[in-house]
Amino acid sequence: MLSFDNTQIAFAHRSDRELQKAYLLFKMINSNALVSFGKNLTNIALKLHLPIDWAVKPTIFSHFVGGKDIDECRKNVRLLEKAGVKAILDYSVEGKESLADINKAMDETLRTINNAAKDGNIPFAVFKPTAFTTHSVLEKVSAKMELTEDEEKEAENFRMRIETLCRTAFENDIPILIDAEDSWFQNFIDEVVYHNMEKFNKEKPIVFNTFQMYRHDRLESLRQAYKTAAEKGYYLGAKFVRGAYMEKERARAIQMGYPDPIQPDKASTDRDYNAALKFCIEHLDRISLFNGTHNEYSSRYMTELMAEHGVAKNDKRCWFSQLYGMSDHISFNLASEGYNVAKYVPFGPVKSVLPYLIRRAEENTSVAGQTGRELSLITKEKERRKTKS
Ligand SMILES: Cc1cc2nc3c(=O)[nH]c(=O)nc-3n(C[C@H](O)[C@H](O)[C@H](O)COP(=O)(O)OP(=O)(O)OC[C@H]3O[C@@H](n4cnc5c(N)ncnc54)[C@H](O)[C@@H]3O)c2cc1C
Repeated sequence: MLSFDNTQIAFAHRSDRELQKAYLLFKMINSNALVSFGKNLTNIALKLHLPIDWAVKPTIFSHFVGGKDIDECRKNVRLLEKAGVKAILDYSVEGKESLADINKAMDETLRTINNAAKDGNIPFAVFKPTAFTTHSVLEKVSAKMELTEDEEKEAENFRMRIETLCRTAFENDIPILIDAEDSWFQNFIDEVVYHNMEKFNKEKPIVFNTFQMYRHDRLESLRQAYKTAAEKGYYLGAKFVRGAYMEKERARAIQMGYPDPIQPDKASTDRDYNAALKFCIEHLDRISLFNGTHNEYSSRYMTELMAEHGVAKNDKRCWFSQLYGMSDHISFNLASEGYNVAKYVPFGPVKSVLPYLIRRAEENTSVAGQTGRELSLITKEKERRKTKS
């Protein structure tokens, strides 16, 4: 049976010094109190325009982020390549809505597509749809609310921007993953994504939508997307995640008095997540599948489904993915077994990727539960190296 326990494989790309740094980092973010203290301190420093790069760049940034720009990521892409792991460069600047920021996100994302076309170790491009218009337009169109003339124009701009990105991906033969975000933006995003799938996925899957399986309606939405793709004669690109915004989703639903879009419990999310993987492996004739998870069971389960259905480990329709700096034991052990694995490698200026970093820190606290696993794996590898030398 596939094992994720081999820490020698998992951490081969980290020197002793880097391993110790990772150990100290996870020790630090293991504490909820420290994480929320760090978050408050960072917010204050940002408000006062105090320099914070010196503290963030060599620590949490260098662990979870590939670099401040595409060039700075190259070294890390090559390190991953040595271990048979691919990279997906992700411009991770969040929460900006000005036209200048939208144009900057456009330029950077187009550059990632062109860069991927030249780099054999970068099989996908990716973007966050919220980087390409205002939140209010995404929300109003999603809720079918009436728009002003300016908002109509902005909605059209969003459609055009996403089509430009998908067309560039198509012309460069680089599949493009479109992240999922808050549910109240998603109807409009889905509409635009499926429009582009219909246009660019006729020969093979280029455009991928993301299904957040913590939403109780997404399994049905996957079945529907498959049915529509079959009827209209295109390939469905399907990326799966559990979903990153559960607390925000639940709080908004309570505050505004509508039914919670999130599953009642973790077991229901897990059930639908794994059912979605099964559905895709059973319909690989038309679906390509991107399994974005740090969950060991869901990663192993997909390998079992592939074996059961006689799908080769390196079948180009089946991908596994984890975030840079997390769950290396899954990524590197899967890759060493011959599966297609790609790490999401975020990049961006230090200040602009802070929301991403804060999310990673919060997700890795002792309450969220990931850190215990990371720490014990790093400790195990430190011990192994000590006894070897
Ligand atoms: C490559 C990659 C790409 C990603 N892209 C996106 C993206 O586009 N959009 C996005 O939203 N997230 C994205 N994420 C983050 C992802 O949604 C998860 O937050 C994260 O991966 C943790 O889930 P898990 O499957 O790894 O692990 P697990 O630790 O098994 O699951 C944790 C997740 O389970 C769900 N959960 C926890 N408790 C409950 C509960 N009580 N009830 C219901 N559900 C619960 C939540 O979604 C939580 O994040 C991405 C992650 C990866 C690895």
